[in-house]
Amino acid sequence: MAIILDGNRVRDEIKEALKPRIARLAAAKRRPGLAAVLVGNHSASEIYVRSKLKTSQELGMCSEKITPPESVTTEEMLALVSELNARSDIDGILVQLPLPRQVDAKRILLAVAPDKDVDGFHPYNVGCLVAGLPGPRACTPAGIMALLDRYNIPIEGKRAVVVGRSDIVGKPVSLLLLHRNATVTICHSRTPGLAAVCREADILVAAIGRPARLDAEYIKPGAAVIDVGMNTLGRREDVARIFRNSPEKLSAFDKRGNVLVGDLDPIDVAERAGAYTPVPGGVGPLTIAMLMANTVESAERRLASC
Ligand code: NDP
Repeated sequence: MAIILDGNRVRDEIKEALKPRIARLAAAKRRPGLAAVLVGNHSASEIYVRSKLKTSQELGMCSEKITPPESVTTEEMLALVSELNARSDIDGILVQLPLPRQVDAKRILLAVAPDKDVDGFHPYNVGCLVAGLPGPRACTPAGIMALLDRYNIPIEGKRAVVVGRSDIVGKPVSLLLLHRNATVTICHSRTPGLAAVCREADILVAAIGRPARLDAEYIKPGAAVIDVGMNTLGRREDVARIFRNSPEKLSAFDKRGNVLVGDLDPIDVAERAGAYTPVPGGVGPLTIAMLMANTVESAERRLASC
């Protein structure tokens, strides 16, 4: 039977391990500080920011939410980021995306001081990742590595296939796997013969955002499968088809009006993989835990450099 890679459990372990570090920082009057910039009324972004701030508060960190209006300009955002860069009580700045159209998101992300870039998106930190130098790593990829390590999934010498080449998941997780001596193939929407490539993978990472797109044909029997996708199914017939009429999923749909599914066919992955992340409860919970870890590390670095 396949091992379920339980993201909730690993998240809780990571959070527990952070608590004594936060206590030491607090004792040195240097409680980690996280600032989240949330522009306008984007409901999904509001939910993400709320849970990030809630987690930081539960852990005893200082956090604050800054909410410029939807009409904010690039210049106003740059001024805000510059103020946060200068504040000694702030160790981590996260600018929740997407930003409104009139704001130049690239300029804003470039303006965040690299040592406060707890999302690991700044080109300086991306460069550190490529070069294998220390620095904050993008949170979802770092969470995937934590999950693989926690379950002792061998990486060195293994074939890893990453489907998806985004800057926030596909590319950074490919580099992290490469640094751990996996032989990595990165695939995308133009990759011919995708199923055959995926079937070579001892470690398959899917980050494409297409509901249940990869089925048994894409999975090598016994592979470790990491499903990053978070897709909302809003039609009952899709839930019935993808989950093979599972009464549990259909009743969840009837209650909530939607059900989450990853990029892998959930039944096929459970039958064929050696280990896999469920959706929800796999990769998702780790993203916030790694954001907290990056903020604590930033605070420790800053304290050490005082
Ligand atoms: P993007 O949309 O930025 O990138 C998707 C990638 O998938 C692109 O490289 C695209 O290829 C590729 N792709 C799309 N369709 C196919 C296909 N049919 N076959 C092969 N490749 C394909 O997505 P993200 O990386 O931002 O997110 C991916 C998924 O992960 C989403 O469901 C997102 O919600 C989820 N996610 C979950 C997180 C978590 O915490 N659990 C965090 C971040 C994301 P091309 O480049 O050629 O267009």
